[in-house]
Amino acid sequence: MNSIAVVGTGYVGLVSGACLSDFGLKVTCVDNDSKKIEKLNKGIIPIYEPGLDSIVERNHYYKRLFFTTDIKKAVDESDIIFIAVGTPSKEDGSADLQYVESVARDIARYMNDYKVIVNKSTVPVGTGQKVKQWVLEELEKRGVQYEFDVVSNPEFLREGSAVHDFTHPDRVVLGTESKKALEYMKHVYSVLYLNETPFIETNIETAELIKYSANAFLAMKITFINEIANLSEKVGANVQDIARAMGRDGRISPKFLHPGPGFGGSCFPKDTRALAEIGKEYGAPVTLIEQTVIANENQKLIAAKKVEDAMGDLSGKQLAILGLAFKPNTDDMREAPSITILNELAKKGARFKAYDPIASNEAKKWLADINDKITYCENEYEAIEECDALIIITEWNQFRKLDLARVKTLLKQPYFFDMRNIYRHESMESLGFMYYGMGQGSYKENHVNLTIGEVAATI
Ligand code: NAD
Repeated sequence: MNSIAVVGTGYVGLVSGACLSDFGLKVTCVDNDSKKIEKLNKGIIPIYEPGLDSIVERNHYYKRLFFTTDIKKAVDESDIIFIAVGTPSKEDGSADLQYVESVARDIARYMNDYKVIVNKSTVPVGTGQKVKQWVLEELEKRGVQYEFDVVSNPEFLREGSAVHDFTHPDRVVLGTESKKALEYMKHVYSVLYLNETPFIETNIETAELIKYSANAFLAMKITFINEIANLSEKVGANVQDIARAMGRDGRISPKFLHPGPGFGGSCFPKDTRALAEIGKEYGAPVTLIEQTVIANENQKLIAAKKVEDAMGDLSGKQLAILGLAFKPNTDDMREAPSITILNELAKKGARFKAYDPIASNEAKKWLADINDKITYCENEYEAIEECDALIIITEWNQFRKLDLARVKTLLKQPYFFDMRNIYRHESMESLGFMYYGMGQGSYKENHVNLTIGEVAATI
């Protein structure tokens, strides 16, 4: 039976490691953050991800899942090693590969036999070949030779439904030049193979580009409907009806046609920027994605400006913020639109009472510059009380059924900004709210247009 090491125990590494151990494999998750590993060894899950705790607990108990900072031991005892570290944006938008390189070199420093090295991190085209090079360099320094293969196995899980996504993927992509490595990988995923999950077997470069193409396409689709929402407001159309009609077309599908305050998170923003950079580097610009990056930055500003345009001078105004995480069911605040929106509104003199069911602690780190203007609340009604407006930024389910009569009495003024369109314009107005959705036809003043240079400065 193959033993597996997963290096990088973040959202992807921890979910992948835990789920693979649940498939019956022996998995050691490695991280250089000793506090994270200490917590995991005490049964504390460092991230919020529904369903993950019981899988970790079960497999830790059955001694199939281990956590360590000792990469040497993990490499020594494993024949398949996943790299699942972060690949954040560098200043120019390209992916920073320093963590991937450092793990690849560590693997080479400690390898003692044939190893399959699997890139699960999202990495630019060419990284698989670089990993080979880094490993060979280290082996040469050691004066030893061991056989190894590199596989690109990008991950498509979504935070908030990561366990389900990992165990029920739409497809598994395996990019490698080695038949032997492919057999190892099929063994790793044999549970999915038997379940008739589609497997895409291809070369490393294709696998690397598949991941960026999929993420960039979805980001572009969101951006498309955001711009149609903005146009709808100008012309008095309703984007909800447009999205519904478009989505009925089987070639389009209704998914990712929900307008909002711009996409955020740890993947779409950095992966769109990285793909735009890869296109430029290879002389094949992906201009649709270059424009998506710009339009998405614009969208966050449009969302903030909507509040200012409706309410006028914001100095001294207190705004209730419901939802801070970049999307529901996660505590991840990376590139959350709430960060731009709150900072923009704070510049105009606003103060905030904010509530997020899970992400408040994380948000305090990301909003550190304006924390003196934010009161973090224990529930939605405490946040709304005595505020001049309510702004829904993240569509947590519990915000979909607010007691609207109570909301109305708690607010000083009935301004209701629904940046996720979870309520309907007509019914909210009939309840006496001054309601502003996204592209629901009531708002005529969006004219924030950044130039490429200005956007670069905001990224
Ligand atoms: P993360 O920041 O949550 O986790 C990365 C982990 O790697 C951290 O715990 C960090 O301490 C650890 N690490 C960094 N350098 C290390 C080293 N040298 N040795 C050991 N551990 C080290 O990142 P993530 O969200 O899990 O993303 C990881 C990769 O997966 C990225 O490339 C990302 O684009 C991709 N991805 C993420 C998602 C997602 O939803 N988060 C989905 C698909 C793909």
